[in-house]
Amino acid sequence: MKSGPRLVDSHCHLTDPRLRDEIGPVAERAHQAGLVAAIVVGTSAANSHECVELCEGSDWMFPTAGLHPCHLLEEPFEPAWGKVESLARLGVVRALGETGLDNYWKEVPLDLQEDSLRRHLSLSRELDKPVILHCRDAADRLLLILGEAARSGPVSGVLHSFAGTEREAEAGLAAGLHLSFSGMITYPKNENLRRVAAVIPNDRILIETDAPYLAPQPWRGKRNEPSHMVATCEALARARGQTFAEVAALTTANAFRLFRLGPPPSPNPMM
Ligand SMILES: [Zn+2]
Repeated sequence: MKSGPRLVDSHCHLTDPRLRDEIGPVAERAHQAGLVAAIVVGTSAANSHECVELCEGSDWMFPTAGLHPCHLLEEPFEPAWGKVESLARLGVVRALGETGLDNYWKEVPLDLQEDSLRRHLSLSRELDKPVILHCRDAADRLLLILGEAARSGPVSGVLHSFAGTEREAEAGLAAGLHLSFSGMITYPKNENLRRVAAVIPNDRILIETDAPYLAPQPWRGKRNEPSHMVATCEALARARGQTFAEVAALTTANAFRLFRLGPPPSPNPMM
């Protein structure tokens, strides 16, 4: 592990065969880049089980359990939810999700997506573990449901790979959520997203790769991996007028607090 800023990838899919099949070198490059933790996000009951298995005995990978809105037809829903519920109760599982709403692919009925989302939200509250939220072309509906949930107290969790407007960001923050920025913030045309990222409070911002998807420039279009998050942290630092070390320190502290990963590491242990 090199000295210098520590980073946490708050959202990646390391069970994807493109990453899992070379997890040794992927982990080595991640550590060289300063990564001290990665949240390994489940997308189905079977996949959440794989996440728990992959993270077993690891000191830097932490699993979640949940049903991705686009994967709800892969498994019979009730037994899948039952498995997620029991996985979520394991101490090693740090969050619920990813859940949310997706009105882009239009394969899964929205009422099923909403039912699943509401179950994740109430289990998140019951277990006092954060919820990881996916949103595509469904921000108004998602924010309405989150606003309702927030009436019983702040919603602990994260709008992952945030790509919405400033108004949507404010609604998410008002519900109690964190916002996580992915490689999308490095894409030249996403000037609006960089403006939104510039006004997120220091204590509510996270970074992620969503690997193997959403590789930042200059790897855009290729298979993503946690070490590439350095480019996302650089872009976020530029957008916010902060240094790389500042953004690394605050996003790492936020991730350690939100996902209860333990005491945050010293940002610069060699000093
Ligand atoms: Zn994801």
